[in-house]
Amino acid sequence: MLILKLGGSVVTHKEKPFTPHAENITRLAAEIAEADAQPLVVVHGGGSYGHPVATEYRIAEGYREPTQLTGFSKTHQAMVDLNGIIVRRLLDAGVPAFAVSPSSFIATEGGRITGIDLHVVERLIESGLVPVLYGDAVTDTSQGFAILSGDQLAVRLATGLGADRVVLGSDVDGVYTNDPKLDSDARLIEELSLSSRGGEAKIGDALNTDVTGGMQGKVAEAAEAVEAGIEVLLVNATVDGRVKAALRGENVIGTVLKR
Ligand code: ADP
Repeated sequence: MLILKLGGSVVTHKEKPFTPHAENITRLAAEIAEADAQPLVVVHGGGSYGHPVATEYRIAEGYREPTQLTGFSKTHQAMVDLNGIIVRRLLDAGVPAFAVSPSSFIATEGGRITGIDLHVVERLIESGLVPVLYGDAVTDTSQGFAILSGDQLAVRLATGLGADRVVLGSDVDGVYTNDPKLDSDARLIEELSLSSRGGEAKIGDALNTDVTGGMQGKVAEAAEAVEAGIEVLLVNATVDGRVKAALRGENVIGTVLKR
């Protein structure tokens, strides 16, 4: 079983609010169809859909005042809209995609998924469908509500469903020695060993590695899957053919995370 996560930087134009990256979404739908890798679960991020609303209403900080309630719903609804676009493109490409709303069956505690009942997702997979989930605004047992990231969700689905591999698609080739957008000398690390102590992911080798921003959270989340013996591969989903090759298990430019 494979879990494919497509970053918000891939499926939306991150700088333009509520703008899907139609070209990437259509191309990736075709790549997923052509790879024909089943069983498969797709998770996508929020990019310019979820983030602007979540930030405006400070959803990630939890419940503080009633005015946030409409913001909580608007954040979720923005993700439903983006999910609708992605699922429709997958269906057009012939992938039996099926939208699954994370906030309908997942609650967090302090922003972290605790218990999760995956029976229905398992039934969908057994039926031959491709569940398509997303980072979402979810209820939270300690802070009222929270933002569940697509990265946390993808990894939790992988461990819960017993996936063999997780493919994390973003807008960079993988983990670099430094943010490649800020440092033109940054080098791609093809294999990265993680050591996890006290629940916090540490990068074992590549001492000169400076992982920040979205990539830092991604590697920290991925550590949980790596610990469970699941292979995690980071690839550039904005480059033609990379996701298809990754889904097929072919050699592809990227970073493999190891224990
Ligand atoms: P997505 O939206 O695709 O899930 P994010 O934008 O959250 O991805 O995270 C990926 C970003 O992390 C990259 O675009 C890059 O700018 C940044 N980043 C920071 N440090 C690194 C690093 N060492 N290697 C790769 N990317 C890095």
